Amino acid sequence: MWHAHDKIWREVKENYPMMESEFVISHGMCLPMMNDHGTDEQKRQFMPDLISGKTLWCQMFSEPGAGSDVASLQTKAELDGDEWIINGQKVWTTLAHKSQFGLCVARNDADQVKHAGLSMFILDMQAPGVEIRPINQINGSHFNEVFFTDLAIPKNWLLGELNTGWKLATAMLMYERVAIGAGGGGGINRPMYDQLHNYATASGAINNPVVRDQMMQVYSMETTKALIAMRTRAEMKAGNTPGPGGSLGKLYGSVIAWRMREIALQIAGMSSVAWVDDDPHGGSAQSLTLRSFASGIAGGTDEIQRNIIGDRVLGLPREPAVDKGVAFRDLKVGTQT
Ligand SMILES: Cc1cc2nc3c(=O)[nH]c(=O)nc-3n(C[C@H](O)[C@H](O)[C@H](O)COP(=O)(O)OP(=O)(O)OC[C@H]3O[C@@H](n4cnc5c(N)ncnc54)[C@H](O)[C@@H]3O)c2cc1C
Repeated sequence: MWHAHDKIWREVKENYPMMESEFVISHGMCLPMMNDHGTDEQKRQFMPDLISGKTLWCQMFSEPGAGSDVASLQTKAELDGDEWIINGQKVWTTLAHKSQFGLCVARNDADQVKHAGLSMFILDMQAPGVEIRPINQINGSHFNEVFFTDLAIPKNWLLGELNTGWKLATAMLMYERVAIGAGGGGGINRPMYDQLHNYATASGAINNPVVRDQMMQVYSMETTKALIAMRTRAEMKAGNTPGPGGSLGKLYGSVIAWRMREIALQIAGMSSVAWVDDDPHGGSAQSLTLRSFASGIAGGTDEIQRNIIGDRVLGLPREPAVDKGVAFRDLKVGTQT
């Protein structure tokens, strides 16, 4: 059902001002998770407003001691009668300050091994017990850190089965990589190339054959990325959950962003990253260049995508794990001493 919604959404949104980034997490990640793992009651309660965009959702995995190694997370969920009580801290939470709800992975059993005693919960981001503090970004926008102090949620806001948080987190990360790596309007689009074209036209560098050659590289790379995205979306439309191949589009987006930055700097110099107060476009071009640094970190770093492609796509040996068979509470990970 959500595939049909996704198709209609992509088509219709093309006619409106750019709001897509606000919905990458809501529609690209939380909606498919709710669709795949929600109970009928949860779907009835949350999906209509999630689909229509009436409620915005955020995703809470990362913590100060758990980023790439997100299974080291320490936010606690304890059952107390008919409620789960959540305590802990999340960080880098995109759109927490605008969201009504969020999906959060928390540890409900520290006696199990690291990846086992985790579960996923639906949280009310505006309830007492949630404190959201901004973290400013270089382009002037912000994401957040989120603190939970005895946040109480109904027992039936557990998403999926108890102790399946890692499985769900992995599934959600795959959706995230697809949402980031296969974003855009659904056809072939080249936002980085368009940006460079604007710079080069404005500065006259478009007449330089070397610049034109570099721009064609980005044009070709973005075209290839769009084709990978179309293949990924076709696989999802055929009912397949995205696999580790989603990391390919995500990684490639970051590689393109690196290349785009290098070329933008050559063409526009300092004005590729700095703008004056009366810039007619409000610094939107520079903001895109600055924001592109995040593409190699958000949704899993480039190194982690390369590890996933190595282990799970190419079948190379996995990194050694020293935490196998050890209860989480006995591990020295994250901020746990
Ligand atoms: C713009 C932005 C938005 C974000 N939004 C959200 C959000 O909404 N929700 C959320 O939960 N998180 C969010 N994040 C957090 C993001 O998922 C993490 O920053 C990311 O997973 C990396 O974790 P870390 O920052 O703790 O870095 P670390 O894990 O501490 O990594 C530090 C460095 O070590 C490298 N490294 C770590 N482990 C390995 C390894 N095994 N092999 C090779 N290299 C390794 C990394 O590649 C990196 O270069 C966001 C991040 C950004 C930048």
